[in-house]
Amino acid sequence: MAESNANPRYARQRRLPFWDSTAQTNLASSHALIVGVGALGCPCADLLVRAGVGKLTIVDRDLVDVTNLHRQTLYTDDDAERHRPKAIAAGERLRAVNPQVEVHPVVADFNSFDAEHLMLHERLGKPDILIDGCDNFETRYILNDLSVKHAIPYVYGGAIGTKGMATVFLPPEGACLRCLFPEPPAPGSQPTCETAGVFAPVSSIIASYQASEAIKILMGHRDRAMRSLLEFDLWEGQRRRIDLSGSRDPQCPCCGEGRFEFLDRDDEGTVSICGKNAIQVNPQARQRVDLASLQRALSMHGTFEHLGVLVKGCLRDEPYGLSVFHDGRAIIEGTDDPAIARSVYSRYIGS
Ligand SMILES: [Zn+2]
Repeated sequence: MAESNANPRYARQRRLPFWDSTAQTNLASSHALIVGVGALGCPCADLLVRAGVGKLTIVDRDLVDVTNLHRQTLYTDDDAERHRPKAIAAGERLRAVNPQVEVHPVVADFNSFDAEHLMLHERLGKPDILIDGCDNFETRYILNDLSVKHAIPYVYGGAIGTKGMATVFLPPEGACLRCLFPEPPAPGSQPTCETAGVFAPVSSIIASYQASEAIKILMGHRDRAMRSLLEFDLWEGQRRRIDLSGSRDPQCPCCGEGRFEFLDRDDEGTVSICGKNAIQVNPQARQRVDLASLQRALSMHGTFEHLGVLVKGCLRDEPYGLSVFHDGRAIIEGTDDPAIARSVYSRYIGS
């Protein structure tokens, strides 16, 4: 580890007065998990890898789309044209940025069924920090449950329109996400990146705050982590800081009563994909799919390609596109109706 302290790659950050001799070593021994490599996850992963985090696991269920490119800074036009899985494209880019970092891309849905297993993956080891790059509230509450249950810091962030917010939860100290917001908002009650759009600089500024908090904690300066919720509106040029020091709720179902309701919840089967006319369908039971056989079977109904970790193509007689992953998960494009997506799934892939 003395090696990372002599490494010229990190020379300019070592000039910082607080970047003491153990900071780089601590960072190089740490493992960060980012869930979602979209508008927040891309800049955050880039900053962590450049700073010299030891190990980075990135989990994402989605494919790169041309509508992502204005804000999701790790992807290129070619990634979008080829609809590459985000985790794979991001992993490749991050390894090119800093080959000294161990980057583990995982193409998967971080849902109640798989999240804990993915987080505690024996080969990767338990992460030292959880970073929110999600586009949905369900996953954030799963991350909060994991954070409290395993006492792992959780760096929260969100950006929509021209506004964003960020904070960090440090269980067992202080509040958790559910102390502040006991339940996720009702489906359809909040703007999404599809309905409200995203001003790209706001996602980058929130991601920078997230990376900053993560680096402080991983380098051994947990005492410097912010104990407040920051809100920005970049269009209005406004910034607000809400002190969270007294906001722990002793009756909080999660950190107060130890109930992990989002983690223990049965998988609902379908999830709409933010920013797309698409629905993700989860299989009833997890098992590995033989993608080569599936590609041959689907080719009787349309044009389908086997692209490594998925089979992707369009149906001939119905206006839907299908991307099927090796864990049986599928993204059905061309509908925002879960019932139609489930029906397409069962007719062409099985239940
Ligand atoms: Zn709580």
